[in-house]
Amino acid sequence: MLNAAQVREQAAALTGADPETTLTWAVDTFPDKVTLTVSFGGGGVVLAHLLSRIDRTVPVLFLDTAFHFPETYAFKERFAKRYGLKVVDLKPQTDPGPLYQTDPDRCCFIRKVEPLERALVGFDAWISAVRQDQSATRSSTELVELHEVGGRPIVKVFPLAHWSRADVWRYLRENGVPYHPLLDQGYSSIGCWPCTRPTAPGEAERAGRWSGTGKTECGLHTFTVKQEA
Ligand code: SF4
Repeated sequence: MLNAAQVREQAAALTGADPETTLTWAVDTFPDKVTLTVSFGGGGVVLAHLLSRIDRTVPVLFLDTAFHFPETYAFKERFAKRYGLKVVDLKPQTDPGPLYQTDPDRCCFIRKVEPLERALVGFDAWISAVRQDQSATRSSTELVELHEVGGRPIVKVFPLAHWSRADVWRYLRENGVPYHPLLDQGYSSIGCWPCTRPTAPGEAERAGRWSGTGKTECGLHTFTVKQEA
């Protein structure tokens, strides 16, 4: 595991690096201790596609909340099979029922955050497709960050931090990478079906998530504590 000074040094060295370089660095730096989370609804498939060319043994974690669209489950299976990915489904310990109706934060915690927190115990580095341009809460995302979770350090790696939505689409088209079918049906960000609606042209990418509730994040990217330089 890298200490804080080493993470800062490595992050500086990666300044301006493209996603493939950043991903390769993470895989090489944390052998058997790195994982990628993918929801199969957005830019994560770019990283999954790159990872399939770099190292197919790296576990790809999928948060199976039990409330994904049927299209998501089907697409995940097709994608994993096509690219030979080692997808691991993470499931909640309990079934809280339709808690999204009354307490979506708690629902997200039980169905997403707690299962991921449990899974991350075995890893030193966690790769995700968060981008700065997705929302105000994600605008300060860096390529490499040191976080703390459950009293232990973990390096978060965001190879797409500086990419735009247009960059994601260009990569998918240029490389012939399949994408979630609902992206062609008006959805611009895809999560659980009870908490996702299509967006209108001009709306923010994540405007269809928990629409009208004020909630903007499921908690997956806020339950770890960033260690400031
Ligand atoms: S996105 Fe909605 S249904 Fe999914 S875990 Fe969160 S609150 Fe529950």
